[in-house]
Amino acid sequence: MDPVAALADLFTGPAARGGLLVVTGAGVSHASGIPTVRGTDRDAIWNRDVTELGTYGFFEEDPVGSWRWYLDRFASVLPARPNPAHEALVALERALAARGTPFLLVTQNVDTLHERAGSKALVKVHGSADRVRCVRRGCEHAAPTGSIARPEAEIARFLADPREATLPRCPACGDLLRQHVLWFDESYASHASYAFDVALDFAMDATAVLFVGTSFSVGATDAFLRAARVARAPVLSIDPGDHPPPFGVTPVRAKAEEALPAAVRRAFG
Ligand SMILES: [Zn+2]
Repeated sequence: MDPVAALADLFTGPAARGGLLVVTGAGVSHASGIPTVRGTDRDAIWNRDVTELGTYGFFEEDPVGSWRWYLDRFASVLPARPNPAHEALVALERALAARGTPFLLVTQNVDTLHERAGSKALVKVHGSADRVRCVRRGCEHAAPTGSIARPEAEIARFLADPREATLPRCPACGDLLRQHVLWFDESYASHASYAFDVALDFAMDATAVLFVGTSFSVGATDAFLRAARVARAPVLSIDPGDHPPPFGVTPVRAKAEEALPAAVRRAFG
């Protein structure tokens, strides 16, 4: 089936019966110039060592190295701009809201492109690159609920002279700050703002699920897939490559930044 028609049918058919869950991964931000974490594109710079460096263990062992690695990564993430895929998801949210259809966007990305595009019903299950938090248990700016905006002045000082003495510190207690992102050796329950329970609850009731640009390599996607199977919800996955999708997932071979805007126009005029 034509990718645009398949997507438009999902939006006006199964989704309209009870709700649409959209789960986005790195692929949705690729057209904004953000390299994928695991992908086959040339810029997938994290391929080699992400599971080793993206950990609390590495931060504990080498906070200067951890901070440098993330700042290097986020230098390309934070200035990026939303692309037509992000914008189409905002239009989709509004069109479904106007029809009273429940909608939730869950992203595995820590970039800020969905919210900058205007998405409102959004859960960021892996945290956010524009926030940090304190490591001291019990501090108001620490887990399980606290975080603060990135302290840019302190970060600039650290970047100019990266060493232990210049590491960004908590304004409340003076302990070290860390990235507000889910690390590979941490659980979804480690911070309230990851809101994984909200995402999973929604997935249980959704009557249609759409994955966009995810490689199905992290646990969250399995949980959503299981929920969709129980609910017998159709599951589509937009992926321009030729990776075989997991069982029960219908691949849509298209670029999200092209197919999504066309499908939203086709479905809602
Ligand atoms: Zn603190």
